[in-house]
Amino acid sequence: MSVHAGACQCGATRITADAAPLSISMCHCLLCQRRTGSSYSVHGYFARTCVTVEGTTKSYARKGDSGAFVTFDFCSDCGSTLFWEAEASPDRIGIPAGLFAHPDFPCPTVSIFVPYKHKWVTVPEGVPQNDGHGAAFAAAAAAAVARRSV
Ligand SMILES: [Zn+2]
Ligand SMILES: [Zn+2]
Repeated sequence: MSVHAGACQCGATRITADAAPLSISMCHCLLCQRRTGSSYSVHGYFARTCVTVEGTTKSYARKGDSGAFVTFDFCSDCGSTLFWEAEASPDRIGIPAGLFAHPDFPCPTVSIFVPYKHKWVTVPEGVPQNDGHGAAFAAAAAAAVARRSV
């Protein structure tokens, strides 16, 4: 069992995952660029059952390209993104890798929204690259939207 312990920049909120991430994305999408204020986001997806959150967060929900919602929780004091939940994958929680502030956090397993990648960014060798989320997520998002509109 691996324990990943993360915190926001002011320390008022903390997040812990007591298992390894199921996947790690390097996302170049424009909204990750805006959310992070950086050129891309690196984040792990962890099984919901292994994640513990401490402290007070605020939420912001938006529709993704797929039409499915994503809800972001951020520290209500300092604004660091602590985690998010995607309607398309309710069993998983996304956590920005930077919260763990640990150089041994593993390499991304996939690079997504590659057409929006800044020209100077290099994707680590061997990491698969997708134009969007990838087919599996797209199918899950379409199913989630269909369930909601029933
Ligand atoms: Zn904070
Ligand atoms: Zn993104």
